[in-house]
Amino acid sequence: MSHEAPAPAANFIRNIIDEQNAAGKWGGRVETRFPPEPNGYLHLGHAKSICLNFGLARDYGGVCHLRFDDTNPEKESQEYVDSIVESVKWLGFDWGAHLYFASNYFDTMYACAEYLIKSGHAYVDSLSADDMRAYRGTLTEPGKDSPYRSRSAEENLDLFRRMKAGEFPDGAHVLRAKIDMASPNINLRDPAIYRIKRAHHHNTGDTWCIYPMYTYAHPIEDAIEHITHSICTLEFEDQRPFYDWLLDKLADGGFFTRPLPQQIEFARLNLTYVVLSKRKLIQLVEEKHVSGWDDPRMPTLVGARRRGYTAEGFRRFTDQIGVSKSDGWIDYSVFEASQRDVLNDSAHRRVAVLDPVKLVIDNYPEGQTEDCFAPNHPQQPDLGKRAVPFSKELWIEREDFMETPSKGYFRLFPGNSVRLRYGYVVQCTGCDKDANGTITAVHCDYLPDTKSGTPGADSVKVKGNIHWVSAAHAYEAEVRLYDRLFTTAQPGGESGDFLNDLNADSVKVIRAQLEPALKDAAPEDRFQFERHGYFVADRVDSKVGAPVFNRTVTLKDSWVKAEK
Ligand code: ATP
Ligand code: MG
Repeated sequence: MSHEAPAPAANFIRNIIDEQNAAGKWGGRVETRFPPEPNGYLHLGHAKSICLNFGLARDYGGVCHLRFDDTNPEKESQEYVDSIVESVKWLGFDWGAHLYFASNYFDTMYACAEYLIKSGHAYVDSLSADDMRAYRGTLTEPGKDSPYRSRSAEENLDLFRRMKAGEFPDGAHVLRAKIDMASPNINLRDPAIYRIKRAHHHNTGDTWCIYPMYTYAHPIEDAIEHITHSICTLEFEDQRPFYDWLLDKLADGGFFTRPLPQQIEFARLNLTYVVLSKRKLIQLVEEKHVSGWDDPRMPTLVGARRRGYTAEGFRRFTDQIGVSKSDGWIDYSVFEASQRDVLNDSAHRRVAVLDPVKLVIDNYPEGQTEDCFAPNHPQQPDLGKRAVPFSKELWIEREDFMETPSKGYFRLFPGNSVRLRYGYVVQCTGCDKDANGTITAVHCDYLPDTKSGTPGADSVKVKGNIHWVSAAHAYEAEVRLYDRLFTTAQPGGESGDFLNDLNADSVKVIRAQLEPALKDAAPEDRFQFERHGYFVADRVDSKVGAPVFNRTVTLKDSWVKAEK
């Protein structure tokens, strides 16, 4: 059975591509890229960008590159590179041979910089950082030319080569594009394009002591890779004029041919009850508010995977929310609903008792066991049925018995009959209690002719239908009930500190009684525990023959009620 969602709706980016294809701009070519900086783990926001870029390439018969934008050595590492590769694969996307590192283009970037110097489009500035800031002006006042702006091309080239050779300390000079210090767009007031920084790079080691600035490097990376549409988030909108300026100059210099890559901005994903800032995510991990980057409550893709969310649910979610030009918030329940839809289609059903109390069937023979048959998926009979053992003592949910029933309660109470799902109808006879009044066992008698699937099964009508697990056969396991990590829709919104809004009850660890087949679950096997929600065998803590389970999501959105 295929679970692919229908083709995504039109959006403004698709419209741009369609128009360009009609005009023959790229000859039908669509080449996108996902360009993470390897300075953290990917999160739900990145997933939107991944699904968008790889999705466009897929739908237009193009390719999408995975490119590490590693121009900022101090914060980057191989650990992050590895986890990013794994997460993009996990989301179901394939870059083929198109795996690139910006750092592999450092030579070309350097050559481009020398060309800009020689052609009068860049100069070495020697102002202090403070002075440079003061000279830049403000949003309302133009900037002033640096006294070094009029250096000759020869002098600039000599200084730049000596910067590269390591003759100057960090920060002594910067190379700047020579554009317009009076531009109303601050990003065009001679932006820095190279700085001196003695830092070990995860890929190039100590080869370089000057590094290109992100805003300079990125357009060049796109042009080298013949990217057609360079899709980024809205905060780069004001950088677009520089992106175009730079590539235009370098095309004039023969480095690249036209048409040049086109930057297109879209609104980043903001999800309620979630923080997506790398700085905040690092803080959650370092201050041990969570167990690590892959804590199932983290909005990282490694966390989402452990939580049991599906890659397909991510793709469905991004298709559903679409792409827009203006920032907004998406409710977390929309994300959960996409996941629930996918899990509802694909997860096999199993039985689990999360808050167990014994049910003793007094008229059932001691030591006898028989099989009952439960469907693996009620809407998909072709997935078959499995045998579940039935015996004299069962585990049932504590909440499925009330000594004194409240109004409208149809489950077990003295004198009432219910169906043990896939088994017999039983009539409740009473309960045992300990000295504190806590119920220790519920008693009942079964009606032998009412077994599900046998001819007389429906002769007795009952209103309640409860699940159970044979006590002698049950697999007792740790189950983690996860909930949202924050209690407010926009963490930190009112108090200013997002940590004040941490949900103290975001995880509850319990011992549950599970049907015996669950003992053989492999890591990452997903199930619906009937009446409880969707669960996954934890990929980290499960052992062979001893899986532990994480709740991915409940069956219904319990927060809707809580918010009212
Ligand atoms: P940084 O502040 O470190 O740059 P970042 O979240 O932008 O953080 P990158 O590694 O630069 O991280 O992001 C890679 C790509 O993912 C970029 O193209 C970025 O625009 C996109 N991206 C990041 N966050 C989101 C988000 N919340 N929604 C959509 N796309 C995002
Ligand atoms: Mg970024």
